Parts: sequence; C-alpha cells; structure tokens
Amino acid sequence: MRTPIIAGNWKMNKNPKETAEFVAGLKGKLPDPSKVEAVIGAPAVDLQTLLDGAAGTDLHIASENNYFEDAGAFTGETSPKVLAEMGVNYGIIGHSERRGYFHETDEDINKKAKALIANGLTPIICCGETLETRKANKFGEWVSGQIKAALKDLTADQVASLVIAYEPIWAIGTGETATPEQAQEVCHLIRETVADLYDQTTAENVRIQYGGSMKPANVKELMAQPDIDGGLIGGASLQPDSFIELLHYQG
Ligand code: PEP
Repeated sequence: MRTPIIAGNWKMNKNPKETAEFVAGLKGKLPDPSKVEAVIGAPAVDLQTLLDGAAGTDLHIASENNYFEDAGAFTGETSPKVLAEMGVNYGIIGHSERRGYFHETDEDINKKAKALIANGLTPIICCGETLETRKANKFGEWVSGQIKAALKDLTADQVASLVIAYEPIWAIGTGETATPEQAQEVCHLIRETVADLYDQTTAENVRIQYGGSMKPANVKELMAQPDIDGGLIGGASLQPDSFIELLHYQG
C-alpha cells in the first residue's frame, strides 16, 4: 500500500517569520500519518525554521534544491550532506523552474538524486512536458525519457522508495489543471516506465504525485485516480487554510 503524500512547494515566497507562523498554525491539524504524509518544501533559507516548527509533529520537510557534491568550493550551493544533518527528509529535484531558469539537465538531476539517496534523503523527482510537447502529442516519450535519465544507475530498492512528481509545465501556476484523466494517463505511463526499467514490484511501490494547479476544489478527483499517490502543490500550499484542506482531502 502506498501512503498518499501531499507536499507543498513554497518556492521563493516566505521569510523565516512567515514560515514560523505558518508551521505553528499546523499544530494539531496534521492528518494521521498512516493515511496521508504531509510535507512542506521550502528554500534553504527557511529550512531550519521549518524544522524547528515541525519538531515533534508528523510534518516532513523537503529542500527545493541541492548540489550533487557533499562539500567543497561550490559557492552558494546547498550540500545534501548538511541537509541530512539538519534533519531534512526529502529533496525536490528537477522542478521545471530549475530546469528552465537554471538550466539543470537530466544528468544533473540524476546526480542530485544519487547525492540525496547517498545521504539518506528521499528524492522527489519532477518531470513534465511543455504545452508545445503536449500539443504535438509527444508528452509520453518526453516524460518517460526524463524518468529514464533521472533514474539512471539507481537500484530497484532505491527507486521503490522515492517519489516522482508529474508536473505538466502548462499547468504550473497557470490555474489550468490537467484533467484527472490526463494526469492519470501520464502517471500510469510513469509507473509502466519504472516497471520496464525494473520490475512490477518496484513500480507498485514508487509513489507518483501530480502537480499543476492542484487545489482544494480538484484534489479529490485527482487523488481518486489509481496511479496518483499525492500532490506537489505550489500556489495552494501558501495559505494555511488551503494547505490544511488539501492535507485532509479524504475528509
Ligand atoms: C509547482 O510548482 O510545483 C506547482 C505545482 O505549482 P502550482 O500548484 O502553483 O501550479
């Protein structure tokens, strides 16, 4: 059984004071962790505040970027080793904003995944196509190509415990959500790609999130799809009420 995973992806939107207030407001409002795993992803400058606020609760914390080396002369980068020492649980990698604005390649993402795993963090690997690729009906091969590249040289055990987020770029921050059928189609294809690369058990274990304008109004029908195990949520995770509603989508 795959435990659903609802993760906020705050991006560059909150300072430590706002972070502390937000996380204090979640106390006593988190779902039963055996039913839904709650995660907040934030930039490095907010992680310690998040960790302090989440101490003793079931909230898990994700970084939104990391380098693939543990230490060294890499000015401004975030060490996966230090993230692990701090107590960060997940690392979001390969987000389309990082691929687009910061020119991250599939190879970088594969190295980052390996670095996270080597340090005991769980990668949340993002993938997804542009509107152009969707319109050209090439989204299937595009997304499975991204997955194959991101998982290169990982073992079945490593893949079984990670998270993949399908985030069609045309649905991110646009208010335009993929229909449940469109999201299911690609999440299923991702699971099939994992089955082809590894085996059925690995594919059955890997958790796959949908991301792209997920909000309280559409979370239920997206989460009802058989291959959607969670959400990676930007805009609708920024307000405590809406994030709490998303976490309790099961009612
Ligand atoms: C995201 O950036 O991961 C995302 C899905 O954003 P939004 O929910 O705002 O579309």
